[in-house]
Amino acid sequence: MSDQIAMMRRENPDVWRRIDELCDGKFDATAFRRFFTHGGGPCDKCGYDLMGNMSGRCPECGTPVVVSAHARRAVSIYIMEALRRRDPDRWNEVAARLERERLETVNREYAREGARRDEIRNKALKNWLQRKREQSSE
Ligand SMILES: [Zn+2]
Repeated sequence: MSDQIAMMRRENPDVWRRIDELCDGKFDATAFRRFFTHGGGPCDKCGYDLMGNMSGRCPECGTPVVVSAHARRAVSIYIMEALRRRDPDRWNEVAARLERERLETVNREYAREGARRDEIRNKALKNWLQRKREQSSE
């Protein structure tokens, strides 16, 4: 049952990060079965109704259900949007926290970048001074 979800998580980590935050890490796939409509319709091989299929395989005959990455992303987003509608306050809280984290990451990277630049500049300056000293002592 989690095959499709595992793939969705891999393909859409940003969306699933938010879904997990909104569900406190306790995402219940069965509550969202109705979103898995991409397998809707009969199995090509045996005719079994695949509506709500989440395993990516026909449970009757095992034929793989062909789902595009695009459809998986759409389902991921539908689930996220349903969670947003269910609890807008929680959504805003999570959105603000993720935004804060993103900013902190950017700031950290920026600071690291700055430190690296300083290091390069200092090394260049030291080399230049060294050369100057060598020149003046010759
Ligand atoms: Zn089948």
